[in-house]
Amino acid sequence: MAFHGAGRQTVCGDLFPGSDLGHKYFCVNSSCGAPSTGLSATPCLTGPTAPAGTPRHPTAMGGSTGGGAAVPQPYSNPASEVPSPAEMEPDRPIGYGAFGVVWSVTDPRDGRKVALKKMPNVFQNLVSCKRVFRELRMLCFFKHDNVLSALDILQPPQIDCFEEIYVITELMQSDLHKVIVSPQPLTTDHIKVFLYQILRGLKYLHSAGILHRDIKPGNLLVNSNCLLKICDFGLARVEEPDPTRHMTQEVVTQYYRAPEVLMGCRHYGSAIDVWSVGCIFAELLGRRILFQAQSPIQQLDLITDLLGTPPLSALSSACEGARAHILRGPHKPPSLSVLYMLSDGATHEAIHLLCRMLVFDPAKRISGSDALSHPYLDEGRLRYHTCMCQCCYSVPSGRVYTRDFEPVAELPFSHSYENSLLSVWQGKELIHRFITEHQQGKRVPLCINPQSAAFKTFIRSTAWHSSKVSRKEER
Ligand SMILES: [Zn+2]
Repeated sequence: MAFHGAGRQTVCGDLFPGSDLGHKYFCVNSSCGAPSTGLSATPCLTGPTAPAGTPRHPTAMGGSTGGGAAVPQPYSNPASEVPSPAEMEPDRPIGYGAFGVVWSVTDPRDGRKVALKKMPNVFQNLVSCKRVFRELRMLCFFKHDNVLSALDILQPPQIDCFEEIYVITELMQSDLHKVIVSPQPLTTDHIKVFLYQILRGLKYLHSAGILHRDIKPGNLLVNSNCLLKICDFGLARVEEPDPTRHMTQEVVTQYYRAPEVLMGCRHYGSAIDVWSVGCIFAELLGRRILFQAQSPIQQLDLITDLLGTPPLSALSSACEGARAHILRGPHKPPSLSVLYMLSDGATHEAIHLLCRMLVFDPAKRISGSDALSHPYLDEGRLRYHTCMCQCCYSVPSGRVYTRDFEPVAELPFSHSYENSLLSVWQGKELIHRFITEHQQGKRVPLCINPQSAAFKTFIRSTAWHSSKVSRKEER
Protein backbone atom coordinates (compact mmCIF):
# COMPACT_ATOMS: atom_id res chain seq x y z
CA MET A 1 0.00 0.00 0.00
CA ALA A 2 1.77 3.08 -1.19
CA PHE A 3 2.17 6.05 1.01
CA HIS A 4 3.02 9.39 -0.56
CA GLY A 5 6.73 8.92 -0.31
CA ALA A 6 8.43 5.61 -0.85
CA GLY A 7 9.65 3.99 2.29
CA ARG A 8 7.20 5.70 4.59
CA GLN A 9 5.26 3.47 6.85
CA THR A 10 1.62 2.85 6.11
CA VAL A 11 -0.68 3.32 9.03
CA CYS A 12 -3.74 1.62 7.70
CA GLY A 13 -2.26 -0.92 5.38
CA ASP A 14 -5.12 -3.33 5.80
CA LEU A 15 -7.94 -0.88 5.39
CA PHE A 16 -8.12 -1.17 1.64
CA PRO A 17 -7.10 -4.69 0.63
CA GLY A 18 -5.54 -4.79 -2.82
CA SER A 19 -3.19 -2.14 -4.02
CA ASP A 20 -5.44 -0.58 -6.65
CA LEU A 21 -8.40 0.29 -4.56
CA GLY A 22 -8.67 3.60 -6.34
CA HIS A 23 -10.25 2.10 -9.42
CA LYS A 24 -12.78 0.28 -7.32
CA TYR A 25 -13.90 3.46 -5.68
CA PHE A 26 -13.64 5.95 -8.51
CA CYS A 27 -16.12 4.27 -10.78
CA VAL A 28 -19.71 5.21 -10.34
CA ASN A 29 -20.75 3.71 -13.64
CA SER A 30 -19.48 1.15 -16.08
CA SER A 31 -18.35 3.71 -18.62
CA CYS A 32 -15.10 4.52 -16.90
CA GLY A 33 -12.71 2.61 -19.03
CA ALA A 34 -9.64 3.83 -20.81
CA PRO A 35 -7.47 6.20 -18.85
CA SER A 36 -7.10 9.66 -20.29
CA THR A 37 -3.98 10.59 -22.12
CA GLY A 38 -4.21 13.95 -20.46
CA LEU A 39 -2.58 15.91 -23.24
CA SER A 40 -4.62 16.54 -26.31
CA ALA A 41 -3.87 18.11 -29.65
CA THR A 42 -7.48 19.10 -30.16
CA PRO A 43 -8.00 22.85 -30.11
CA CYS A 44 -9.43 24.12 -26.89
CA LEU A 45 -12.62 26.09 -27.22
CA THR A 46 -12.72 27.32 -23.67
CA GLY A 47 -9.42 29.09 -23.96
CA PRO A 48 -7.19 30.39 -26.69
CA THR A 49 -5.56 27.86 -28.97
CA ALA A 50 -1.84 27.83 -28.73
CA PRO A 51 0.01 28.53 -31.95
CA ALA A 52 1.64 25.54 -33.58
CA GLY A 53 4.90 24.67 -31.97
CA THR A 54 4.11 26.24 -28.65
CA PRO A 55 5.49 24.03 -25.92
CA ARG A 56 2.72 22.63 -23.77
CA HIS A 57 4.72 21.04 -21.03
CA PRO A 58 6.21 23.06 -18.20
CA THR A 59 9.57 21.37 -18.62
CA ALA A 60 9.70 22.96 -22.05
CA MET A 61 9.04 26.40 -20.67
CA GLY A 62 12.63 27.22 -19.89
CA GLY A 63 12.14 26.61 -16.21
CA SER A 64 10.80 30.02 -15.35
CA THR A 65 7.22 30.95 -14.79
CA GLY A 66 5.72 32.49 -17.87
CA GLY A 67 8.97 31.80 -19.67
CA GLY A 68 9.98 31.83 -23.32
CA ALA A 69 6.82 30.29 -24.76
CA ALA A 70 4.47 32.96 -23.51
CA VAL A 71 1.83 34.14 -25.95
CA PRO A 72 -0.48 37.09 -25.49
CA GLN A 73 -3.98 36.15 -24.44
CA PRO A 74 -6.81 37.89 -26.27
CA TYR A 75 -8.74 38.52 -23.07
CA SER A 76 -5.97 39.27 -20.64
CA ASN A 77 -4.22 42.47 -19.90
CA PRO A 78 -2.16 43.10 -23.04
CA ALA A 79 0.74 44.16 -20.90
CA SER A 80 0.97 40.82 -19.16
CA GLU A 81 1.96 37.73 -21.02
CA VAL A 82 1.00 34.29 -19.83
CA PRO A 83 1.97 30.92 -21.23
CA SER A 84 -0.45 29.03 -23.43
CA PRO A 85 -2.80 26.78 -21.50
CA ALA A 86 -2.28 23.07 -21.24
CA GLU A 87 -5.34 21.02 -22.07
CA MET A 88 -6.81 18.28 -20.00
CA GLU A 89 -9.59 15.76 -20.33
CA PRO A 90 -11.83 14.25 -17.72
CA ASP A 91 -10.93 10.69 -17.01
CA ARG A 92 -13.70 9.13 -15.00
CA PRO A 93 -16.39 10.26 -12.58
CA ILE A 94 -15.70 9.94 -8.88
CA GLY A 95 -18.67 11.51 -7.22
CA TYR A 96 -21.62 13.78 -7.15
CA GLY A 97 -21.52 16.19 -4.22
CA ALA A 98 -24.22 18.54 -3.01
CA PHE A 99 -23.06 21.21 -5.41
CA GLY A 100 -20.97 19.81 -8.21
CA VAL A 101 -19.74 16.79 -10.09
CA VAL A 102 -16.22 15.53 -9.55
CA TRP A 103 -14.06 13.68 -12.06
CA SER A 104 -10.64 12.15 -11.95
CA VAL A 105 -8.27 13.81 -14.44
CA THR A 106 -4.60 13.72 -15.31
CA ASP A 107 -2.72 16.98 -14.97
CA PRO A 108 -0.86 17.26 -18.29
CA ARG A 109 1.83 19.37 -16.67
CA ASP A 110 3.14 16.65 -14.43
CA GLY A 111 1.08 13.53 -15.13
CA ARG A 112 -0.38 13.66 -11.65
CA LYS A 113 -3.89 12.36 -11.06
CA VAL A 114 -6.06 15.10 -9.60
CA ALA A 115 -9.76 15.73 -9.07
CA LEU A 116 -11.71 18.12 -11.30
CA LYS A 117 -14.87 19.66 -9.96
CA LYS A 118 -17.33 21.63 -12.02
CA MET A 119 -19.22 24.18 -9.99
CA PRO A 120 -22.69 24.20 -11.52
CA ASN A 121 -25.29 26.94 -12.00
CA VAL A 122 -22.81 29.60 -11.00
CA PHE A 123 -24.48 32.56 -12.64
CA GLN A 124 -28.07 31.41 -12.39
CA ASN A 125 -28.93 33.99 -9.76
CA LEU A 126 -27.24 36.16 -7.16
CA VAL A 127 -27.61 33.55 -4.41
CA SER A 128 -25.84 30.81 -6.37
CA CYS A 129 -23.24 33.32 -7.55
CA LYS A 130 -22.43 34.28 -3.95
CA ARG A 131 -22.42 30.65 -2.84
CA VAL A 132 -19.98 29.55 -5.51
CA PHE A 133 -17.71 32.56 -5.04
CA ARG A 134 -17.62 31.86 -1.31
CA GLU A 135 -16.73 28.20 -1.88
CA LEU A 136 -14.10 29.14 -4.43
CA ARG A 137 -12.50 31.65 -2.08
CA MET A 138 -12.57 29.16 0.75
CA LEU A 139 -10.91 26.46 -1.36
CA CYS A 140 -8.15 28.92 -2.21
CA PHE A 141 -7.88 30.10 1.41
CA PHE A 142 -7.43 26.72 3.10
CA LYS A 143 -3.96 25.62 4.05
CA HIS A 144 -4.37 22.54 6.19
CA ASP A 145 -3.66 18.87 5.58
CA ASN A 146 -7.08 17.75 6.77
CA VAL A 147 -9.05 20.24 4.69
CA LEU A 148 -9.40 19.91 0.93
CA SER A 149 -8.10 22.96 -0.93
CA ALA A 150 -7.83 24.15 -4.52
CA LEU A 151 -4.63 23.17 -6.30
CA ASP A 152 -5.63 25.17 -9.34
CA ILE A 153 -8.57 26.71 -11.16
CA LEU A 154 -8.99 26.19 -14.90
CA GLN A 155 -8.41 29.25 -17.00
CA PRO A 156 -11.69 31.07 -17.65
CA PRO A 157 -12.58 32.19 -21.17
CA GLN A 158 -13.18 35.86 -21.83
CA ILE A 159 -15.89 37.21 -19.62
CA ASP A 160 -18.70 37.20 -22.23
CA CYS A 161 -18.34 33.41 -22.56
CA PHE A 162 -17.65 32.78 -18.90
CA GLU A 163 -20.34 30.39 -17.62
CA GLU A 164 -18.56 27.57 -15.81
CA ILE A 165 -15.89 27.21 -13.17
CA TYR A 166 -13.66 24.18 -12.84
CA VAL A 167 -11.51 23.63 -9.78
CA ILE A 168 -8.65 21.18 -9.40
CA THR A 169 -8.12 19.57 -6.03
CA GLU A 170 -6.09 16.71 -4.72
CA LEU A 171 -7.50 13.33 -5.71
CA MET A 172 -8.58 11.19 -2.80
CA GLN A 173 -9.38 7.54 -3.23
CA SER A 174 -12.49 7.11 -1.16
CA ASP A 175 -14.64 8.65 1.52
CA LEU A 176 -15.68 7.61 4.99
CA HIS A 177 -19.19 6.64 3.90
CA LYS A 178 -17.83 4.11 1.44
CA VAL A 179 -15.40 2.81 4.03
CA ILE A 180 -18.12 2.42 6.68
CA VAL A 181 -20.51 0.51 4.40
CA SER A 182 -17.73 -1.67 2.97
CA PRO A 183 -16.89 -5.07 4.49
CA GLN A 184 -13.36 -3.90 5.27
CA PRO A 185 -12.43 -4.16 8.93
CA LEU A 186 -12.30 -0.91 10.90
CA THR A 187 -10.10 -1.24 13.94
CA THR A 188 -9.95 1.05 16.94
CA ASP A 189 -6.70 2.41 15.51
CA HIS A 190 -8.50 3.37 12.29
CA ILE A 191 -11.29 5.06 14.21
CA LYS A 192 -8.88 7.00 16.40
CA VAL A 193 -6.78 8.27 13.52
CA PHE A 194 -9.88 9.21 11.50
CA LEU A 195 -11.55 11.00 14.39
CA TYR A 196 -8.33 12.80 15.22
CA GLN A 197 -8.05 14.14 11.68
CA ILE A 198 -11.72 15.15 11.46
CA LEU A 199 -11.37 17.18 14.65
CA ARG A 200 -7.99 18.54 13.59
CA GLY A 201 -9.50 19.84 10.34
CA LEU A 202 -12.58 21.11 12.11
CA LYS A 203 -10.51 23.03 14.68
CA TYR A 204 -8.78 24.77 11.79
CA LEU A 205 -12.06 25.63 10.03
CA HIS A 206 -13.66 26.94 13.22
CA SER A 207 -10.56 28.97 14.04
CA ALA A 208 -11.00 30.65 10.65
CA GLY A 209 -14.58 31.46 11.66
CA ILE A 210 -16.05 28.96 9.18
CA LEU A 211 -18.98 26.65 9.88
CA HIS A 212 -19.00 23.68 7.51
CA ARG A 213 -22.70 22.90 8.01
CA ASP A 214 -22.65 19.59 6.16
CA ILE A 215 -20.23 17.33 8.01
CA LYS A 216 -21.13 13.75 7.07
CA PRO A 217 -19.12 10.63 6.18
CA GLY A 218 -19.46 11.29 2.43
CA ASN A 219 -17.78 14.68 2.88
CA LEU A 220 -14.74 13.19 4.60
CA LEU A 221 -12.38 12.00 1.90
CA VAL A 222 -9.81 9.36 2.74
CA ASN A 223 -6.79 7.84 1.08
CA SER A 224 -5.52 4.30 1.36
CA ASN A 225 -2.98 5.55 3.91
CA CYS A 226 -5.89 6.82 6.03
CA LEU A 227 -5.16 10.48 5.41
CA LEU A 228 -8.48 12.31 5.77
CA LYS A 229 -9.63 15.62 4.34
CA ILE A 230 -12.86 17.50 4.96
CA CYS A 231 -14.47 18.53 1.65
CA ASP A 232 -17.54 20.10 0.06
CA PHE A 233 -17.90 23.66 1.26
CA GLY A 234 -21.07 24.31 -0.72
CA LEU A 235 -23.01 24.96 2.48
CA ALA A 236 -20.19 26.48 4.50
CA ARG A 237 -20.45 30.02 5.76
CA VAL A 238 -18.77 32.41 8.13
CA GLU A 239 -19.85 32.28 11.74
CA GLU A 240 -22.49 34.88 12.57
CA PRO A 241 -21.43 36.80 15.67
CA ASP A 242 -24.73 38.65 16.02
CA PRO A 243 -27.21 36.32 17.76
CA THR A 244 -30.15 38.37 16.54
CA ARG A 245 -29.35 37.63 12.90
CA HIS A 246 -31.31 34.72 11.47
CA MET A 247 -29.48 31.84 9.83
CA THR A 248 -30.93 29.33 7.40
CA GLN A 249 -32.34 26.06 8.73
CA GLU A 250 -31.69 24.27 5.46
CA VAL A 251 -28.36 22.88 6.51
CA VAL A 252 -26.75 19.57 7.36
CA THR A 253 -27.91 16.22 6.01
CA GLN A 254 -30.72 15.16 8.33
CA TYR A 255 -29.02 12.19 10.06
CA TYR A 256 -26.17 14.44 11.20
CA ARG A 257 -28.26 17.52 12.00
CA ALA A 258 -27.85 18.95 15.49
CA PRO A 259 -30.92 19.19 17.75
CA GLU A 260 -30.82 22.99 17.79
CA VAL A 261 -31.16 23.07 14.00
CA LEU A 262 -33.91 20.42 14.08
CA MET A 263 -35.76 22.56 16.61
CA GLY A 264 -35.70 25.61 14.37
CA CYS A 265 -33.15 27.62 16.30
CA ARG A 266 -32.61 30.88 14.40
CA HIS A 267 -28.98 31.28 15.33
CA TYR A 268 -26.39 28.55 15.73
CA GLY A 269 -22.63 28.16 15.84
CA SER A 270 -19.76 25.78 15.36
CA ALA A 271 -21.34 23.32 17.82
CA ILE A 272 -23.54 22.04 14.98
CA ASP A 273 -20.43 20.62 13.27
CA VAL A 274 -19.30 18.96 16.51
CA TRP A 275 -22.69 17.24 16.80
CA SER A 276 -22.22 15.85 13.29
CA VAL A 277 -18.78 14.56 14.25
CA GLY A 278 -20.32 12.84 17.28
CA CYS A 279 -22.82 11.07 15.00
CA ILE A 280 -19.97 10.01 12.72
CA PHE A 281 -17.90 8.78 15.68
CA ALA A 282 -20.79 6.53 16.72
CA GLU A 283 -21.21 5.40 13.12
CA LEU A 284 -17.54 4.45 12.92
CA LEU A 285 -17.90 2.41 16.08
CA GLY A 286 -21.20 0.72 15.17
CA ARG A 287 -20.91 0.81 11.37
CA ARG A 288 -24.44 2.03 11.07
CA ILE A 289 -26.05 5.45 11.14
CA LEU A 290 -26.73 6.46 14.75
CA PHE A 291 -29.94 8.43 14.22
CA GLN A 292 -31.53 7.17 11.02
CA ALA A 293 -34.96 8.81 10.94
CA GLN A 294 -37.50 9.36 8.19
CA SER A 295 -38.33 12.97 9.06
CA PRO A 296 -36.89 15.85 11.08
CA ILE A 297 -39.44 15.25 13.86
CA GLN A 298 -38.57 11.58 14.06
CA GLN A 299 -34.91 12.62 14.00
CA LEU A 300 -35.50 14.71 17.11
CA ASP A 301 -37.41 11.82 18.71
CA LEU A 302 -34.52 9.41 18.14
CA ILE A 303 -32.14 11.92 19.72
CA THR A 304 -34.32 12.35 22.82
CA ASP A 305 -34.75 8.56 23.01
CA LEU A 306 -30.99 8.35 23.55
CA LEU A 307 -30.26 11.54 25.49
CA GLY A 308 -33.53 11.76 27.40
CA THR A 309 -35.95 14.68 27.47
CA PRO A 310 -33.82 17.84 27.47
CA PRO A 311 -34.12 20.36 30.32
CA LEU A 312 -36.19 23.47 29.63
CA SER A 313 -33.00 25.53 29.55
CA ALA A 314 -31.93 23.64 26.42
CA LEU A 315 -35.16 24.57 24.66
CA SER A 316 -34.89 28.35 25.00
CA SER A 317 -33.97 28.90 21.36
CA ALA A 318 -36.34 26.26 19.95
CA CYS A 319 -39.27 27.30 17.82
CA GLU A 320 -42.72 27.06 19.40
CA GLY A 321 -43.72 23.90 17.54
CA ALA A 322 -40.56 21.99 18.47
CA ARG A 323 -40.79 23.00 22.12
CA ALA A 324 -44.46 21.95 22.25
CA HIS A 325 -43.61 18.63 20.59
CA ILE A 326 -40.99 17.81 23.21
CA LEU A 327 -43.04 18.97 26.20
CA ARG A 328 -46.17 17.18 24.96
CA GLY A 329 -44.40 13.81 24.77
CA PRO A 330 -43.68 11.47 27.67
CA HIS A 331 -40.70 12.26 29.84
CA LYS A 332 -37.81 10.12 28.62
CA PRO A 333 -34.85 9.10 30.80
CA PRO A 334 -31.44 9.04 29.11
CA SER A 335 -30.34 5.65 27.78
CA LEU A 336 -26.72 6.41 26.97
CA SER A 337 -25.57 3.00 28.19
CA VAL A 338 -26.76 1.52 24.88
CA LEU A 339 -23.78 3.24 23.26
CA TYR A 340 -21.56 0.57 24.84
CA MET A 341 -23.26 -1.94 22.58
CA LEU A 342 -22.09 -0.19 19.41
CA SER A 343 -19.01 -2.41 19.21
CA ASP A 344 -16.05 -3.78 21.13
CA GLY A 345 -14.33 -0.48 20.44
CA ALA A 346 -16.92 1.34 22.56
CA THR A 347 -14.69 1.63 25.61
CA HIS A 348 -15.32 3.92 28.59
CA GLU A 349 -12.92 6.44 27.09
CA ALA A 350 -14.62 6.32 23.69
CA ILE A 351 -18.11 6.68 25.11
CA HIS A 352 -16.99 9.46 27.44
CA LEU A 353 -15.80 11.52 24.47
CA LEU A 354 -18.85 10.56 22.39
CA CYS A 355 -21.19 11.71 25.16
CA ARG A 356 -19.37 15.06 25.33
CA MET A 357 -20.11 15.59 21.63
CA LEU A 358 -23.69 14.36 21.70
CA VAL A 359 -24.89 16.98 24.17
CA PHE A 360 -28.33 18.39 23.45
CA ASP A 361 -27.55 21.93 24.56
CA PRO A 362 -25.00 23.44 22.13
CA ALA A 363 -23.67 25.71 24.87
CA LYS A 364 -22.65 22.64 26.88
CA ARG A 365 -21.35 20.57 23.96
CA ILE A 366 -17.58 20.12 23.80
CA SER A 367 -15.78 22.26 21.20
CA GLY A 368 -13.74 20.70 18.42
CA SER A 369 -10.60 22.15 19.95
CA ASP A 370 -11.33 20.78 23.44
CA ALA A 371 -12.28 17.39 22.04
CA LEU A 372 -8.76 17.10 20.68
CA SER A 373 -7.46 17.21 24.27
CA HIS A 374 -9.47 14.12 25.20
CA PRO A 375 -7.24 11.15 26.10
CA TYR A 376 -9.10 8.95 23.59
CA LEU A 377 -7.34 10.85 20.80
CA ASP A 378 -3.79 10.59 22.16
CA GLU A 379 -3.03 7.47 20.15
CA GLY A 380 -4.57 8.93 17.01
CA ARG A 381 -2.39 12.02 17.38
CA LEU A 382 0.73 9.94 17.90
CA ARG A 383 -0.03 7.73 14.91
CA TYR A 384 -0.81 10.69 12.67
CA HIS A 385 2.33 12.61 13.55
CA THR A 386 4.56 9.55 13.56
CA CYS A 387 4.07 8.61 9.94
CA MET A 388 1.24 10.44 8.20
CA CYS A 389 1.63 14.18 8.64
CA GLN A 390 3.52 16.80 6.67
CA CYS A 391 4.40 18.86 9.75
CA CYS A 392 6.88 16.48 11.42
CA TYR A 393 9.87 14.72 9.91
CA SER A 394 12.28 11.93 10.61
CA VAL A 395 16.03 12.16 11.08
CA PRO A 396 18.41 9.22 11.71
CA SER A 397 18.14 9.75 15.45
CA GLY A 398 14.34 9.74 15.48
CA ARG A 399 11.29 11.83 14.77
CA VAL A 400 11.28 15.61 15.00
CA TYR A 401 7.80 16.68 16.00
CA THR A 402 6.13 19.97 15.22
CA ARG A 403 5.52 22.43 18.03
CA ASP A 404 1.86 22.75 17.18
CA PHE A 405 0.06 19.48 16.50
CA GLU A 406 -3.29 21.08 15.73
CA PRO A 407 -2.66 24.48 14.14
CA VAL A 408 -5.28 27.15 13.77
CA ALA A 409 -5.82 29.42 10.77
CA GLU A 410 -3.42 32.33 10.55
CA LEU A 411 -6.28 34.69 9.74
CA PRO A 412 -10.06 34.49 9.88
CA PHE A 413 -11.73 33.95 6.52
CA SER A 414 -13.00 37.29 5.28
CA HIS A 415 -16.37 37.58 3.60
CA SER A 416 -16.64 41.35 3.53
CA TYR A 417 -16.60 41.27 -0.29
CA GLU A 418 -20.08 39.71 -0.22
CA ASN A 419 -21.72 42.93 0.94
CA SER A 420 -20.68 44.71 -2.22
CA LEU A 421 -21.90 41.93 -4.49
CA LEU A 422 -25.22 43.17 -5.78
CA SER A 423 -25.76 41.64 -9.21
CA VAL A 424 -24.93 38.48 -11.15
CA TRP A 425 -22.90 40.44 -13.70
CA GLN A 426 -20.88 42.09 -10.98
CA GLY A 427 -20.34 38.68 -9.42
CA LYS A 428 -19.17 37.35 -12.75
CA GLU A 429 -16.63 40.15 -13.08
CA LEU A 430 -15.39 39.64 -9.53
CA ILE A 431 -15.03 35.87 -9.92
CA HIS A 432 -13.31 36.27 -13.30
CA ARG A 433 -10.85 38.72 -11.80
CA PHE A 434 -10.34 36.51 -8.75
CA ILE A 435 -9.45 33.47 -10.88
CA THR A 436 -7.19 35.48 -13.18
CA GLU A 437 -5.36 37.05 -10.24
CA HIS A 438 -5.16 33.70 -8.49
CA GLN A 439 -3.36 32.21 -11.48
CA GLN A 440 -0.92 35.01 -12.10
CA GLY A 441 2.68 34.04 -11.77
CA LYS A 442 1.80 30.41 -11.16
CA ARG A 443 2.14 27.36 -13.36
CA VAL A 444 1.09 26.99 -16.99
CA PRO A 445 -2.67 27.58 -16.97
CA LEU A 446 -4.95 24.65 -17.61
CA CYS A 447 -8.01 24.41 -19.77
CA ILE A 448 -10.29 21.60 -20.78
CA ASN A 449 -10.46 19.91 -24.16
CA PRO A 450 -14.18 20.22 -24.89
CA GLN A 451 -13.95 18.05 -28.01
CA SER A 452 -12.95 14.91 -26.15
CA ALA A 453 -15.50 12.14 -25.68
CA ALA A 454 -14.68 12.09 -21.98
CA PHE A 455 -15.52 15.77 -21.63
CA LYS A 456 -18.84 15.32 -23.40
CA THR A 457 -19.72 12.55 -20.95
CA PHE A 458 -18.61 14.82 -18.14
CA ILE A 459 -20.84 17.63 -19.34
CA ARG A 460 -23.82 15.31 -19.78
CA SER A 461 -23.53 14.00 -16.23
CA THR A 462 -22.98 17.53 -14.97
CA ALA A 463 -26.04 18.86 -16.76
CA TRP A 464 -28.14 16.01 -15.43
CA HIS A 465 -26.89 16.67 -11.93
CA SER A 466 -27.24 20.44 -12.22
CA SER A 467 -30.90 20.18 -13.13
CA LYS A 468 -31.45 18.13 -10.01
CA VAL A 469 -29.61 20.65 -7.86
CA SER A 470 -31.44 23.62 -9.31
CA ARG A 471 -34.79 21.94 -8.72
CA LYS A 472 -33.67 21.36 -5.15
CA GLU A 473 -32.60 25.00 -4.79
CA GLU A 474 -35.95 26.20 -6.01
CA ARG A 475 -37.74 24.42 -3.22
ZN1 LIG B 1 3.15 16.27 12.40
